[in-house]
Order: sequence, then structure tokens, then C-alpha cells
Amino acid sequence: MKKVVIIGGGIAGMTAGVLLQKAGFKTEIYEKNALPGGQCTGWKREGYFIDNCIHWLTGTRPGSALHELWKEIGALGDGVELYEKEMFFSSGLDAQTLTFWRDKERTRREMLELSPEDAEEINKLIDHVSLAETMTVPVEKPFDAMNPIDFIKMGMSMKAMGKVMKAYGNMDIHELAGRFHHPLIRRAIVDYMPDDYQAYAFLVSYGTVTGGNGDIPKGGSLAMSLRIAETYKEHGGVLHTNAGVKTVLLNGKKAEGVLLENGERVEADYVICACDTDFTFRRLLPEKYMPAGLRKLYADREKYPVSSGFQMAFAVDGVFPELTGTRVFSCEEITVGSRTVKRMSVQSYDYEPGFAPEGKMILQTNFSQTESDYEYWQSFYSDKERYAQKKAEIAEQVLQRMEKEYPFLAGKIHVIDIWSPMTYTRYCNAYHGAYMSFVTTKQAKSITVPGVVKGIDNVFLASQWLMGPGGLPTAAAMGKFATWRIMRAGSRG
Ligand SMILES: Cc1cc2nc3c(=O)[nH]c(=O)nc-3n(C[C@H](O)[C@H](O)[C@H](O)COP(=O)(O)OP(=O)(O)OC[C@H]3O[C@@H](n4cnc5c(N)ncnc54)[C@H](O)[C@@H]3O)c2cc1C
Repeated sequence: MKKVVIIGGGIAGMTAGVLLQKAGFKTEIYEKNALPGGQCTGWKREGYFIDNCIHWLTGTRPGSALHELWKEIGALGDGVELYEKEMFFSSGLDAQTLTFWRDKERTRREMLELSPEDAEEINKLIDHVSLAETMTVPVEKPFDAMNPIDFIKMGMSMKAMGKVMKAYGNMDIHELAGRFHHPLIRRAIVDYMPDDYQAYAFLVSYGTVTGGNGDIPKGGSLAMSLRIAETYKEHGGVLHTNAGVKTVLLNGKKAEGVLLENGERVEADYVICACDTDFTFRRLLPEKYMPAGLRKLYADREKYPVSSGFQMAFAVDGVFPELTGTRVFSCEEITVGSRTVKRMSVQSYDYEPGFAPEGKMILQTNFSQTESDYEYWQSFYSDKERYAQKKAEIAEQVLQRMEKEYPFLAGKIHVIDIWSPMTYTRYCNAYHGAYMSFVTTKQAKSITVPGVVKGIDNVFLASQWLMGPGGLPTAAAMGKFATWRIMRAGSRG
């Protein structure tokens, strides 16, 4: 039986693990952390649960190959209830509020009431959100292995998406917002995504929610990761935790196995590097093997930026339905990382009663962080005291702004955790603290990198970094593609 060693027990690595086990391979996952899941995780503080990933899981609507993949690996399926978000997010400005509801017709009505003069653009936007609901992540086989018929089929299945691309494909978020006259509509659009992101990303994200294809599995992110890990083990997979890999052992054009951080050697017929690709080619494999496509992406920091977050979790004494969902509001200036912002968001997790003790709730806020912000945090990360002090200073200011916006929270809210882009680098070896992969800006062509390593026959890549903008479906797809390549490359033996 051929043996596959998988480096990294995130969604990509575990997807590959489950599928290879089912295909009759012997696999072992080596994960550096105590828990599997990687970025798809959560943790406890003071009796509250901080869920740190799934805002929406693309693929919750039955009928797509992605949905079937989620079921196959145990992420979704019988007994996994879904929470249907009522709203995507809500933005407030000058005492007015605009909510992007799950029910897009309700959003249309509210937008038209707010700004009749924007009727044409509003109707166009909502009609195209409807078309964007058909967007799906192709997960059947790697794109470089697709034949013309596969491409025709894919094109047909995404015909409606073609119309979205035609209307919004050559525009960034800033330009999309600029099409509207009403200041709140303009503001709301840039509230959700950095303004150099492509406009269609907004439509696709919102369409995922309105189309019922972006719900949240009950239990949240860590529960989903643990379900996949359980499925992996049920099929005979061996998951090693607290087991970091130091390097891939090469002998000419072949990998012989891996060397663990603890000095142990593990032999393998195939190796899948299912962790951050920058880390892979800086630490696990010689840099010269980095695929050309990835090299291009890392080289151009302007066209392919990555982002992260400065985040905080708050315990609230009481349950306040007026805080349901994700709400963005204006606040007194606050410097977070290298930039000063005047808007902030607050997200409630009240849909999951198990995340807070009875009669209480947990809130989170996430300030988007750029690569310059990452440099800012990195510059004093080694000075632990200063790092902690800086985080605490910001948290104090954020708390004041929360209490100002929601006076009923005064005296009833306190910070239970603060984490920065450095957390993602520490926890997952994440490039520049990013938790999604490269964003394609308007000036750039999107690049998908095949998960093969030219010059080493039996090493494959599986990671969200192979296809922008990353995310859970991409990670799962890349795990599946690595499986596909191994099944093509060799027999089970
Ligand atoms: C705050 C936040 C919100 C998000 N929201 C969403 C969302 O709503 N929807 C969505 O689709 N996605 C979301 N994401 C993104 C999603 O979590 C990631 O895209 C996905 O989890 C990446 O999976 P991965 O397997 O490619 O990488 P990772 O999760 O990074 O997994 C790689 C694994 O490799 C391990 N590893 C690294 N180095 C080594 C080593 N040397 N030895 C052994 N193990 C190693 C790491 O510890 C990690 O477990 C969010 C992420 C965050 C943090």
C-alpha cells in the first residue's frame, strides 16, 4: 500500500487525507498545532467560545459538486444543521442604516426607498447579485487537467456568471461605490471590502448568501474541522498533532519522506505540502522549486495584495437583539496598525447559543489589515511586552467607541481576547499574517497555480494559496486536486 505523508492538518490537508484514505492509500497527517483545522478554528476564553473563521461557507446549498465534497469529507451532511444568516451585513451613516439582507428583494426595496435617484444602478446591482448566486467553485479536477469539453461544461454552468463579469468584471469596489449617488450606499459598499478589490467579489459574496449557498454549519468553524478530522480517522487515517515538519527529505528528483521538528524521520511514497506555500518554499523545500505562477504572485505585492485582521472578542453581560448580525458604523478616529480608520464593525454570534453562557453574548470586531500593517506589527512582535501593550491600548479605544455607539453596553462589556496578523503567522506559518490568499486587483490577471512541483516527481501542493482569493472551498478543492494527481501518478500498490 502506497504511503502519503501530508504536511498540515488544515482544510486542504484533511480533505486530501479523507479522499486518499477512501481511495485505499495509507496516509498520515502531521500538524504542528495541538488541534487540526488550521485557520478554520476557534478557542475558549472565560467560558465564551471565539469562533474565528466561518462567516459563510460556500457550498451549503445542495446540488453542486462542492456541496457533495463537503458531505464526502464530513464537513456537512446528516445531522449537521445550518444557520441561515438573515443578513449579510448592515451599514450605518448619519442616523441612516442600509442592510444587505439574505432576502435581496428586501434589500432592493430598502435601497430604492433610501435613494430613488439611484434606481437604475440599484436594480442593476440586485439583478446581477441574483445572477451571481449561480457561482460555484469547480472541484471536479485540476484546471490544468481539464479538456475542452470540461471547459465548455464549466462555461455552460457559469453562463449567468459571465453576465456578471461582463457588467462588473472591469471595475474595483471603489468604482462600484462611485456609481451611486447616495452617501450611505457608497459607504456600505466600501465598508465590506477594501476598495481595490474587484467589484464582482462583492456581488459573488452577497449572492452566495442570498442564494442560500453560504450558510453557517452549527457549531462553527472548529466543530467543522473536528468533524472532518473524525471522518479522516474513521477511514483509517492517522492524525499526528503537535507534530511540526522541519523539512521534506529529498533524494535527487524524489522525496523520501519528511523530517519532523523532533528529529524523527518518516518515510513516504508521496508527500503533500498542505500548508502555506511561502513557508513550503522557504523552509520545507528549496526555494528554486517554487512554481513560476506562485513566484509571480509573491513578486508583485501591488497587484496581488493579501490582507489580514486585527481582531478582538468581547464578552457582554446580557443579550441584545439589536446587535444581531454584522454592523458597521462611523467612529472617532482610531489607529490600528499603520493606518487610521473612522469606521468599525461589530459582529454578534447570538445565532449560536453555545458560544456564550446563558444570558450573555459574545461580540467580535475585525479591522482589516494590509501588508504595511503586518510590517508594523512585525516590527515590535519580538518585544512581547510592547506588543501586548499596543494591542491593549487599541482595545481600550475600541471599547470606548463601542460603548459610544451602543450606550446600553456601558459597564456590561469587556475584552476577552485580542489578536493581530502576527497570530496567523505564529499559528499557521501564514504569509504576511494573511488568512485568505492573493486578491486579484483590477490591474491583474487571476493566476491559478497547479499543485505540482516541477523537478520533484512525488511532491504535491494543496493549499488555498494556489488559487485566489482562497477561502475554505478553495482549500478543499486544492486538497481534492492533490488526491487526483496522486491517484493518477501511482497505484495504491
Ligand atoms: C478570521 C477568519 C475569517 C475567515 N472567514 C472565512 C469565511 O467566512 N469563509 C471562507 O471560506 N473562508 C474563511 N476564512 C479563510 C479560511 O479559514 C482559509 O481559507 C482556510 O482555512 C485555509 O485552509 P488551508 O488548509 O489552505 O490552510 P491552513 O488553514 O493555513 O492550514 C495549514 C495547516 O498547516 C499547518 N502547518 C504549517 N506549517 C506546518 C509544519 N511545518 N508542520 C506541520 N504543520 C504545519 C498549520 O498549522 C495549519 O493547520 C477565514 C479565515 C479567518 C482567519
